[in-house]
Amino acid sequence: MLDRTIDLSQLAVPGVRGLQPYQPGKPESELKREYGLDDIIKLASNENPMGPSARAVAAAEGELRGAHRYPDGAGFALRQGLARHHDVDPLQVTLGNGSNDVLAMVANAFLEEGREAVFSAHAFAVYPIVTQAAGARAVVVPANGPRHAMPYGHDLNAMAAAVTEQTRVVFVANPNNPTGTWLRSAPLQAFLEGLPTHVIAVVDEAYVEYADDPAYPDASAWLADFPNLVVTRSFSKAHGLAAFRVGYGLSHPAVADLLNRVRQPFNVSSVAQAAALASLQDRDYIAQAVALNAEQRDWLRAELEELDLTVLPSAGNFLCFRVGDAADAVYQGLLQRGVILRPVANYDLPGHLRVTVGLPAENARFIDALRTELGRG
Ligand SMILES: *Cc1c(COP(=O)(O)O)cnc(C)c1O
Repeated sequence: MLDRTIDLSQLAVPGVRGLQPYQPGKPESELKREYGLDDIIKLASNENPMGPSARAVAAAEGELRGAHRYPDGAGFALRQGLARHHDVDPLQVTLGNGSNDVLAMVANAFLEEGREAVFSAHAFAVYPIVTQAAGARAVVVPANGPRHAMPYGHDLNAMAAAVTEQTRVVFVANPNNPTGTWLRSAPLQAFLEGLPTHVIAVVDEAYVEYADDPAYPDASAWLADFPNLVVTRSFSKAHGLAAFRVGYGLSHPAVADLLNRVRQPFNVSSVAQAAALASLQDRDYIAQAVALNAEQRDWLRAELEELDLTVLPSAGNFLCFRVGDAADAVYQGLLQRGVILRPVANYDLPGHLRVTVGLPAENARFIDALRTELGRG
């Protein structure tokens, strides 16, 4: 028998003792086990509903027979490809086991007890986790109010005001998850210009491909202007490779050098590296994914508004909407109908749910199920 009387949690470092683990979207297999359902749609984790690029799958398959070899720890080919794609030097690229890994590297390289990381309320859940795990203090800045043009989005003035001598990192999600809100070019550039040089600015662009506002900035274009800038990108969302865990950071080479000191030597598998490179080159696949998302996001928004629900602006492949007190009951009811959404009360957005833009038939089925749950059937 395991002895459950010893409090092993006391052995952990203080930051870890107080940590709540990341809550992922409910996996389909779990809902299958729990409810005995087999016709399930998962609109909970902002995955690309089209599946991966066929070229990425072929490239991954090509690597399988070499599985007995360690991957290229330096990720030479993928970093070359990314450098060409972004018109930067390969020394500016840091590969991550998902961009999550890059966020953790930033925390490990720049944060510790006595230092602070600044980020917005309702921002991506990984920022508080990596900050606390590094022993640093999380400074959570109140977001825009509900009546702002970007409700619950980042308030850059308030974030700038929260920066102190102790601040070493600011995390900015653009667009933000779970709200979908985004920051336009001029204010974000002004924010970066105003940051003291002892602060590393992380601009997390996990959903960059989907952002269609002409005023939305590609922060990677500013790398030459801001030596303290780290832009993170992911292959998990528009590139449809979430299972492979691959993302990257773009930064000044000196910052990349620091990140690489804390990077695990073989953090991205050979299969993932090959798939990511092929996906990067499959422009048609990305164009198709983005077009489908734009069309279906508009359709979903119109349907949700037709149900009198308030929908936040979104530049991503998901929509966050307000249900009110019934949000949890609606979430549970949808689960029983085989539709998995993401509750966002843990993002301090009680009464809201987040839905990933799926395929047309999935979106239609979700709306039908929601209408029934809301008693509008
Ligand atoms: C999904 C997501 C990521 C990271 O995903 P990875 O799978 O680790 O690349 C990063 N930031 C935001 C805002 C996200 O929503």
